[in-house]
Amino acid sequence: MKRYSTFAVVKEALSNHLGWKRAWVAAKPKAKYDIIIIGAGGHGLATAYYLGKNFGVTNIAIIEKGWLGGGNTGRNTTIIRSNYLQNASVAIYEKSRSLYENLSQELNFNVMFSPRGVMMLAQTQHELRSYLRTVHANALQGIETEFITPMRVKELCPIIHIAGPRYPILGALWQPRGGTARHDAVAWGLARACSSMGMDVIQQCEVNSIKTTNAKVVGVNTTKGAIDCNKLGIVAAGHSSLLAEMAGFRLPIESVALQALVTEPIKPCMDVVVMANTVHGYMSQSDKGEMVIGGGADSFVNYSQRGSFHHIEETVRALIETFPMLSRLKMLRQWGGIVDMTGDRSPILSNTPVGGIYINCGWGTGGFKAIPGSGWGFAELMATGHSSLCNAFSLNRFREGRFVDESVAAGVAH
Ligand SMILES: Cc1cc2nc3c(=O)[nH]c(=O)nc-3n(C[C@H](O)[C@H](O)[C@H](O)COP(=O)(O)OP(=O)(O)OC[C@H]3O[C@@H](n4cnc5c(N)ncnc54)[C@H](O)[C@@H]3O)c2cc1C
Repeated sequence: MKRYSTFAVVKEALSNHLGWKRAWVAAKPKAKYDIIIIGAGGHGLATAYYLGKNFGVTNIAIIEKGWLGGGNTGRNTTIIRSNYLQNASVAIYEKSRSLYENLSQELNFNVMFSPRGVMMLAQTQHELRSYLRTVHANALQGIETEFITPMRVKELCPIIHIAGPRYPILGALWQPRGGTARHDAVAWGLARACSSMGMDVIQQCEVNSIKTTNAKVVGVNTTKGAIDCNKLGIVAAGHSSLLAEMAGFRLPIESVALQALVTEPIKPCMDVVVMANTVHGYMSQSDKGEMVIGGGADSFVNYSQRGSFHHIEETVRALIETFPMLSRLKMLRQWGGIVDMTGDRSPILSNTPVGGIYINCGWGTGGFKAIPGSGWGFAELMATGHSSLCNAFSLNRFREGRFVDESVAAGVAH
């Protein structure tokens, strides 16, 4: 794969840009692979990438029913942070955040990681106390967070109205090295790296059944024919329970639509990410100038990649209290994705009742930030059968009552 560099750009500029190669090969399926990963979202691609990089396993197919990154990975609001409460969550989210710091250099692909700082507003006494608890927990876990005053909130984000009519701002949980990254670029950069290691990224190929013999996986049937494998990773977010059913087991997740919207682009006015959990909304400004706004999840199970209209109204109404200047902007686009929610709001990274099948799902409304960390841990689990990053997130925890409760840290959940 040709390296991207200033030298390469200059050289190509002098030769009419005829020497660039496609970023990844449009692969056709082979008869058999060591490992098949279902789902070319960020988590599936990161798993394949770290299987190759850390364990030298490259006979891998990543199978995608639509287009690469076309699931939640290309639909999210890109917030990256690691200020969770439980040790197991902090370990995986911080691993991920720290991998994001150098991901562009590592992949030789600009994922536009921008550690501009994430603040989670405290707008009730309850929220204030729970964020203070998180700050103390984070101090013990070695995560750099602090609780900041309303005046500091205003300093960091001048467009905030701190004396709002219903919920004045009482302070915020601030993570200075949290931020955002370009979602498509994360998928594209990982796909390019996988392809350059010789893996097959196969798009427009839907898995419609899973083949097992003696309770062990032997392959999958797809819209491009049967493909055999020794191990199978299901990394399909909102569609995970459908794939689990094909393999003959059930998952404790619900699939619901979560939606977001962007306004028309405006001049730079906000260089931090703000989450307002009480009124329920979160916002950052994209490099193009659009205000990127995240809304709530629908309260009913469905698979349509749209969201309900009332959520747009609720989210915008809530945010206008905190950011009155928003009332003068027009909405440009709105979209939804299908997220996979567990009861404790923590992911599942686990082996399954079927031999050779591993599952990575349950990231719900907050898995973009976890892509490199999850890929790192899940690759280790698939390659060796064990990963300290994944231990706490096994499927058995639901049977054994060992929940990793993140319903506070994941309140708005991004
Ligand atoms: C509106 C919205 C806002 C969000 N905001 C944030 C945020 O700010 N920060 C954050 O950290 N997270 C956020 N998230 C959550 C985040 O997007 C997801 O947790 C993450 O992208 C999940 O990645 P994934 O790779 O597991 O899934 P996906 O990207 O959904 O990839 C799964 C892939 O599997 C494919 N697939 C499914 N079934 C099959 C099949 N049968 N055969 C082949 N392929 C199949 C799908 O087509 C899909 O491409 C948000 C989500 C949404 C919807």
